[in-house]
Amino acid sequence: MTRTVVVGGGIGGLAAALALARRGHRAVVLERADEFAEIGAGIQLAPNGLHALDLLGLGDAVRARAVHIDELRFMDGVTGAHVASMPLTGTYRRRFGNPYVVVHRGELHRLLVDACRRSAAIELRTGSRATGYSQDGSGATVLLDGGGRVTADAVIGADGIRSAIRRQLVGDGEPRVSGITVYRTVIPMERVPEELRWNAVTWWAGPGRHFVHYAIAGGRYLNLAPSVENGVTESFAGVPVDRERVRGAFAALDGTAQRLIALGEDWKSWALVDRDPVDRWTDGRVTLLGDAAHPMLHYAAQGACQALEDAVVLGDLLDDTDAIPDRFEKYNAERHDRTARITHAARASTRLWHPAGAEAKARNEMLSALSGTDLHDHVAWMHGAREFGTVGARP
Ligand SMILES: Cc1cc2nc3c(=O)[nH]c(=O)nc-3n(C[C@H](O)[C@H](O)[C@H](O)COP(=O)(O)OP(=O)(O)OC[C@H]3O[C@@H](n4cnc5c(N)ncnc54)[C@H](O)[C@@H]3O)c2cc1C
Repeated sequence: MTRTVVVGGGIGGLAAALALARRGHRAVVLERADEFAEIGAGIQLAPNGLHALDLLGLGDAVRARAVHIDELRFMDGVTGAHVASMPLTGTYRRRFGNPYVVVHRGELHRLLVDACRRSAAIELRTGSRATGYSQDGSGATVLLDGGGRVTADAVIGADGIRSAIRRQLVGDGEPRVSGITVYRTVIPMERVPEELRWNAVTWWAGPGRHFVHYAIAGGRYLNLAPSVENGVTESFAGVPVDRERVRGAFAALDGTAQRLIALGEDWKSWALVDRDPVDRWTDGRVTLLGDAAHPMLHYAAQGACQALEDAVVLGDLLDDTDAIPDRFEKYNAERHDRTARITHAARASTRLWHPAGAEAKARNEMLSALSGTDLHDHVAWMHGAREFGTVGARP
């Protein structure tokens, strides 16, 4: 049995604490905020993410609250033509062992917090901002803002893309600003005309921009997320933006897409950021997890799924306290290639979604020629329920 300090009480940190507790270890979660809360709207969970939640004992609770999506629908955002749909029912669910769902971020987070609170092996502490760590041969210590210290056998930095633990461990500076701005809002479903409602995650692909929307919160709200390559160079998050500015940025899209965007009112904007993958995110008794380890653009809808996978793999690997540095190395090695591949895939998705003219036409022809099975083959390595490593694959 080991005792670990987990820095960060987001989806990744809480999942890590649960994964450790389920293997008989103890964990203290340090969250800088004054309460455990998650803002934001919907989060898509492919079968691999649900599989990790199943292994953490939360799959049923998440499935019961989630919208089970019927298809991923790809539209030419300029002509309004339907290009391709990846079915997510029948064969997909049988092949990957779970549905593809959208869950409210706050609900997923609350389920994780409640499960941690039910565990006698997990202690949750708020108002605890980590500034760094130290370690010796027998333990590791988290240094807190204000001078406090928390010592245990190991430290997991799950403190997000601007992780203080990563700053010391990897030291690769500020995240990369992608040059893309995403606008987000949610609207009550009763404000959405009947003919604009369908059970799909839908992409409208246009030149240098695209628009994604899907239902969340049991179908009570529609989540709208258009993004545009506007060359933004500064990082910002959650900045309110005028609805006319959002409408103007997507004025070249088809009428249906524009009607949906016009329904949005309280828009906020984010400059999209990520980091280049690094080989090592482990230092002795200290390791990173989730966005602290491998932050990626949300275009593959996999950041949270990967954090959940990390948690399961780490929980399965951790053994006695002397073996921690070795097990953290194994975890790093086990998770590196997959998370780096998804980081690159998420970046590359704009090459498929954002072309114009002849290039867009060729893309449409290529996509529309693919069968449902072809599309499933294409995502199998990522969505495959048991693809996340030999350790996570253990029943
Ligand atoms: C627009 C958008 C859409 C997305 N959509 C999806 C999707 O559909 N599917 C999907 O799987 N993923 C999606 N993601 C990615 C997903 O949100 C993240 O990958 C995931 O939330 C990462 O979780 P985490 O716990 O690693 O980090 P975070 O969620 O960032 O949590 C970090 C926690 O650490 C705390 N913290 C930070 N610094 C400190 C400190 N110094 N000391 C103590 N505590 C600290 C923070 O307060 C926070 O609670 C999306 C991301 C974005 C931006």
